[in-house]
Amino acid sequence: MRIGVLALQGAVTEHIVSIEKTGATGLPIKRVEQLEEIDGLIIPGGESTTIGKLMRKYGFIEAVRDFSHQGKPIFGTCAGMIVLAKKIAGGEAGHLELMDITVARNAFGRQRESFECDLEVKGIDEPVRAVFIRAPLINEVGPEVEVLTVYKDEIVTARQGHLLVSSFHPELTDDFRLHQYFADMVEASGTANK
Ligand code: GLN
Repeated sequence: MRIGVLALQGAVTEHIVSIEKTGATGLPIKRVEQLEEIDGLIIPGGESTTIGKLMRKYGFIEAVRDFSHQGKPIFGTCAGMIVLAKKIAGGEAGHLELMDITVARNAFGRQRESFECDLEVKGIDEPVRAVFIRAPLINEVGPEVEVLTVYKDEIVTARQGHLLVSSFHPELTDDFRLHQYFADMVEASGTANK
């Protein structure tokens, strides 16, 4: 099974290391043609405006929408979650607009720009170590979205069918269980090239 990491901007290498721990092959994706070689895609953290701009420039908006419409799983972490969202609070235009969530950028305020904690994630047995860096959170979810983590009354992990998002950076710790959760989604999607 091959899982790609969109490699236009942001934290790519760490995701690849975590993917490989699940037993899948991790590949950096720099050109749209490479989407044909993978079974699942991670959109990493970084700066969502920059990632969105580069995705437009290199034809990734249409190509990733197509990838999603084929039922292939996508996991957006932090800025990647913003890129996947249908709506961004405050009126800024969305990017892929695939997942029925409204997100707020930089939602934790200056005092809490970055922090770590342990979080319960539905579907994972023990709490997961989460690193938040200028993180977004989910303000609203549509009827098809399953909330996986609530932290201090805020939604920070969610899933809609083959789409998964987290406000935090699961690639910045040794804990690869959220990557394992995603790899299991890819496996179960039945679209993986065996
Ligand atoms: N603050 C960034 C944004 O709004 C996201 C930060 C991150 O990915 N760590 O795009």
